[in-house]
Amino acid sequence: MTETTNIKAYGTAAAEAPLNPMDISRRIPTAHDVQIEIQYCGVCHSDLHTAKNEWHGTIYPCVPGHEIVGKIVRVGDHVSKFKVGDTVGVGCIVDSCRECQYCQEGLEQYCEPGMTGTYNSPDKYLGTPTFGGYSESVVVDENYVLRIPENLDLAATAPLLCAGITTYSPLRHWNVGPGHKVGIVGIGGLGHMGIKIAKAMGAHVVAFTTSESKFAEAKRLGADEVVLSKDEDQMAAYKGKLNFILDAVSAEHDINAYLNLLRVDGSLALVGAPENPLPVAAFSLIMGRKSFAGSMIGGIAETQEMLDFCGEHNIVSDIEMIDMQQINVAYERLLKGDVKYRFVIDMASI
Ligand code: NAP
Ligand code: ZN
Ligand code: ZN
Repeated sequence: MTETTNIKAYGTAAAEAPLNPMDISRRIPTAHDVQIEIQYCGVCHSDLHTAKNEWHGTIYPCVPGHEIVGKIVRVGDHVSKFKVGDTVGVGCIVDSCRECQYCQEGLEQYCEPGMTGTYNSPDKYLGTPTFGGYSESVVVDENYVLRIPENLDLAATAPLLCAGITTYSPLRHWNVGPGHKVGIVGIGGLGHMGIKIAKAMGAHVVAFTTSESKFAEAKRLGADEVVLSKDEDQMAAYKGKLNFILDAVSAEHDINAYLNLLRVDGSLALVGAPENPLPVAAFSLIMGRKSFAGSMIGGIAETQEMLDFCGEHNIVSDIEMIDMQQINVAYERLLKGDVKYRFVIDMASI
């Protein structure tokens, strides 16, 4: 039997219910585990999709949160990579099979039997669902824990653990760099990180937003050009001009309007995960040998690479700090695209 202890968390009991305080069990660290006192946790739109069962797989009660930073307060007997007092991060993956081809290649996010997500996954130790970072502390195997560069503001680093890696990984995979014109669609938590990272990789960045209030700011974030995507004339000016597009929109939208902006052989990678399918017209792909692709977060080694890259380039998220008790209002605002650009929960408030 795995020993456990009860801690404070915030979660939801049903798709229509608000998030409320609740107690959850965490295992006492086993040999390779570290226990992390959570200082800050980012609020990802995936938390909201999951809490509201928009992807139809939520197990309740559900405690979201997978952009976790904090301090190690206890280590298991065989932990070798970390010690008590270290500042560390945990993203979307807390375990995986470690044996399949993809785990061996550092692609734990595509683990064949399935990775263990930080929340809403079967917990290998307790038989319950895993519970995420909207909580006082978390216990994680040291192999799934990340080091945080010392020069970065800790609260503003939390969103790198999901929004950072989810944009970094496809930008790397599609070899974005100098000489590339790259579109970033949807300037929310993911999109604003996509702008900063693509710019630091040396690309020419074009931001696409539906929000007039973000138009001027996108340049401050690093975009070379900004397009109001509701304006057909502005969109038409980019027809056939982009090498690569990263689409981080959380809701249904016209994907063909963006495929039309790609050059011959260009690719559009979807990271946004709307509840309903997005229709793709055959001719949007045929005319120009275009690729429509997707990408999910990133593996553990690549997440560390991304954190080190952000450390070198001084990249963090633009955040709005909230107390745990404000989470339901934050979700309402997230649904309206009204956050600049990531809510981060000060976990001392729980
Ligand atoms: P977010 O902060 O809410 O940003 C989403 C942005 O999409 C909004 O800021 C808005 O940007 C745009 N948008 C929202 N509704 C729209 C609509 N109806 N039409 C057009 N544009 C709209 O969300 P996020 O945390 O960045 O997450 C974005 C999506 O990525 C979510 O679906 C999330 O679940 C998913 N995600 C996927 C992965 C992965 O591994 N693939 C990882 C994390 C998150 P503008 O105001 O600029 O238009
Ligand atoms: Zn996320
Ligand atoms: Zn595996």
